[in-house]
Amino acid sequence: MLFRSYITPLLVCCIFILTGCYSPEDKEGHPEYFQVYYDKYDSSKNEDKEAALELLNNAFRSFPNPGLIDWFEKFDRDRDVAYYVKTNYIKAMSVSDSMLLLTEDKKEREAYASYHVRALFYKGDCYYKLKRYNEAFYYYSRAKQMAMQFMKDKCSLVEYDSYNGYLFFTQARYDLAASYFYNDCIQQMQCPQDNYNRFVIIQRNLDNIGICYYRLGRFDSADHYYNKALDYISQNESRFPQQHYFARLAKAVVYGNKAQMLEDMRKYSEAESMYIKSAEVTGLTDKAYTSSTQVSLAGLYIKMNKLNQADSLLTIVKALLDTLPNENAMLRWYRLKTELLVKTQQRDIAFDVLQAYNKLKDSVDIRDRKFAAMDINREFESMEQKALNAALQKDNQVKNMYLVIAVTVLMMVVAIVLLVWYNLRRSSRHVKELNRKNEDLQNAFNSLEQSHRENSHILRIMAHDLKNPISAMRNLVYSLLRKEQPAQQREILELVQDTCGTSLNLINDLLNDRRQLSSTRKELVDMARLLESCVELQQAKADEKNQQLYLVAEPAEIMLNTQKIWRVISNIISNAIKFSPPGTEIKISLQKRTSSVLLCVQDQGIGIPDEFKDKIFSAPEKVMRLGTFGEKSYGLGLSISKKIVEEHRGKIWFDSVDGKGSSFYVELPSLN
Ligand code: ADP
Repeated sequence: MLFRSYITPLLVCCIFILTGCYSPEDKEGHPEYFQVYYDKYDSSKNEDKEAALELLNNAFRSFPNPGLIDWFEKFDRDRDVAYYVKTNYIKAMSVSDSMLLLTEDKKEREAYASYHVRALFYKGDCYYKLKRYNEAFYYYSRAKQMAMQFMKDKCSLVEYDSYNGYLFFTQARYDLAASYFYNDCIQQMQCPQDNYNRFVIIQRNLDNIGICYYRLGRFDSADHYYNKALDYISQNESRFPQQHYFARLAKAVVYGNKAQMLEDMRKYSEAESMYIKSAEVTGLTDKAYTSSTQVSLAGLYIKMNKLNQADSLLTIVKALLDTLPNENAMLRWYRLKTELLVKTQQRDIAFDVLQAYNKLKDSVDIRDRKFAAMDINREFESMEQKALNAALQKDNQVKNMYLVIAVTVLMMVVAIVLLVWYNLRRSSRHVKELNRKNEDLQNAFNSLEQSHRENSHILRIMAHDLKNPISAMRNLVYSLLRKEQPAQQREILELVQDTCGTSLNLINDLLNDRRQLSSTRKELVDMARLLESCVELQQAKADEKNQQLYLVAEPAEIMLNTQKIWRVISNIISNAIKFSPPGTEIKISLQKRTSSVLLCVQDQGIGIPDEFKDKIFSAPEKVMRLGTFGEKSYGLGLSISKKIVEEHRGKIWFDSVDGKGSSFYVELPSLN
């Protein structure tokens, strides 16, 4: 358990560190760069394979960005060294894990299915070698299921049958195993023969059939298939010249098997020469296999009573087995050594060796018994089912995830649509309400404008209607005054005449106000001339009060509405006359400035008290005072004047000291 949970991942990590962190973005391979190293490796004999692998690793280190297929091919050879050369199945398994990790992503697993399947088989092989058959079943089943689902090349699937053959063979069900090897052979023969892997599989299957028949005691059939295997190798090895070492090894394996059979048939001398033939060939390429053959030969020597040869051979083999452990060969070695020691009367040592044999045999037996009790066929089906279920479950998980995402998105869409719909309804309600309010406002504004127009109209009619009778009255009084009148009556008539005049002025003001204020027409006017004419008109009033009007004006042409500005000037000058006592001076000046003209009317009149100062433009009715000769005030002039000046983008203001006099200023822009 510990071994499974910690060692394997640890080794995977080590492999990752040794091979560097790889996350190939480039998926394809670069055979133009690496093929030469692959060929070099593939054509090396077993003992040179590590050096060839080192060359490949160096090439990898100097290549900037190897692709996924490059990594796969390299790992394939890493695994080959671990599995065949070093028989280190733990390391071979961790390399297989790295290969599986390369195609971990679902998309890549499907696109590079043949690689993924190969890695699954490799992992199954490792478990098989470690006699962990449950796991071996699992990985073989996954490989088959994956291959059937995604691999287009059905020829690569037939290999699966030979894996079944191995498992039945391990269970000593040789007839069944032979039929699987045979089926696989027939199917492989129907597939293209230019594939080196296929060459390896076919010769191996033929040899395996031979072994099965041998184990069944059918020596003729066994011999037939051994010879078939040797013929097949001889006929096809020339097609794979680079793998000639393999062909020699394969032949050696068959020789070894034949030798074993000959030995059982008691044809000892033929068996001896066959063992020697086998060991000679494999001695060059595969020391592990050689040790196994030599153990068998030693056994034969004991049977032939060639005890000295047997002893020296066993000593040589022991040294080999110490460096390259091989469980089966070791068991056989212990057995033979015991037998030899007994035959040579060394019973004490024989007992120790036998004990070592028993210890190893017990542990192997316990493990193998467990396996033998299993019904492989049923186990296979259930494993396949499990693998299929796992795939389906994963598929379902993915589908469920998509479903949840789809439902969530749908709910969000519905929520958004509802929100938009609700807001649309609310805003359309608001728009309607606003429209209604707007209509109300518009109506109110219209009726206000209407009532204003009506008021103005009535006011003008009244002013107009009042003007005629008052004029008539004034004319009548005027004609009466031209006649002789008693002094008292004359006084009354003059008073009536004055009142009529003032009333007419007021009416004219009202009429002018409406007419003139609405006019916006402007013209280029010399302010000095305008000022002069105003002063002239006001001169009579000033004379009546014995006041002096002084005018100092520079010519200054500006754009203005003559009527309106005339009213402003007249109003200010007439106020100065009205609110100044007789005999005082009124100074009127017009000054040109950079971008404006400044009018100033300065009097020595009654001045404006502080409490009135902020009201005379805005609320003149509260500050209306009588003039120094009792002239009436109407509180209109200054507010109208302010409006007119502001219309001309100018300013109006005053300085005043109560009881001492006032100065009124009007500044108008000259660039209008
Ligand atoms: P009216 O001239 O018809 O009275 P105005 O709007 O011209 O109306 O003036 C408003 C008030 O401002 C006046 O009643 C007066 O109290 C004050 N006023 C204006 N001009 C002068 C001035 N030169 N001297 C003192 N008081 C003034």
